[in-house]
Amino acid sequence: MLTIENLHASVADKPILKGLNLTINAGEIHAIMGPNGAGKSTTGYVLGGRPGYDVTEGTATFDGQDLFALEPHERAAAGLFLGFQYPVEIPGVSNLQFLREALNSQRKARGEEPLSGGEFLKLAREKSALLKMDMEMLKRPVNVGFSGGEKKRAEMVQMGILNPKLAILDETDSGLDIDALRICGEGINAIMRAPDKAVLLITHYQRLLDYVKPDFVHVLAGGRIVKSGGPELALELEEGGYEGVAA
Ligand code: ADP
Ligand code: MG
Ligand code: MG
Repeated sequence: MLTIENLHASVADKPILKGLNLTINAGEIHAIMGPNGAGKSTTGYVLGGRPGYDVTEGTATFDGQDLFALEPHERAAAGLFLGFQYPVEIPGVSNLQFLREALNSQRKARGEEPLSGGEFLKLAREKSALLKMDMEMLKRPVNVGFSGGEKKRAEMVQMGILNPKLAILDETDSGLDIDALRICGEGINAIMRAPDKAVLLITHYQRLLDYVKPDFVHVLAGGRIVKSGGPELALELEEGGYEGVAA
């Protein structure tokens, strides 16, 4: 699904990623953990193609394609979904308008027919029910006045509607109370736990991993993966911190 080899990337001419290697196969859930400033968010932004995050060396192959040769919207249409640490607000555009536009533009890029209004609403209802989100909330402007937990749940509804192959979720657990954490975790499992899909969870804490059990856990420090293991590695980090590992 995704193969990253020797990835080096800079932000504002400052090298952040320094030889990152990672392979994610279909059907797998991976977690990247690491101290503040390690380059976790940078990894997500580089893979998503955010302007200002420059690849200086290395390759990434996504579903057989050279990821870095694709524009950000082409990456999304190819099935890459990025969940952000800080979701943006879009006053004047309802969630439903935004989601339908996003879905249909991706379908168009793939040569698929757009969904009709009725088909789209049915899909939106189904996915918002998964995240226990009232459809009325989706009629409101994107993220405006949403609590932290509502923003994350709205983002998971978006993921359900777009139905990506690979979801990269950056600190989806940040700012969530325990109920919202469980609902988001169950939503991620319902939407993304499938033999033909994969997830990369970027997280500072292990608590989301109680709900979304990773197959592999990686520690990112100094711009590289310095250790990989199974779910038990996340528990070890919770106990011992990153210091011993990152050294
Ligand atoms: P993490 O998500 O692991 O906490 P980040 O990827 O956000 O880390 O940041 C990695 C490093 O890159 C940090 O040292 C941060 O200060 C730096 N960095 C990130 N974005 C920028 C930017 N826009 N300009 C300058 N430095 C940045
Ligand atoms: Mg951070
Ligand atoms: Mg971050």
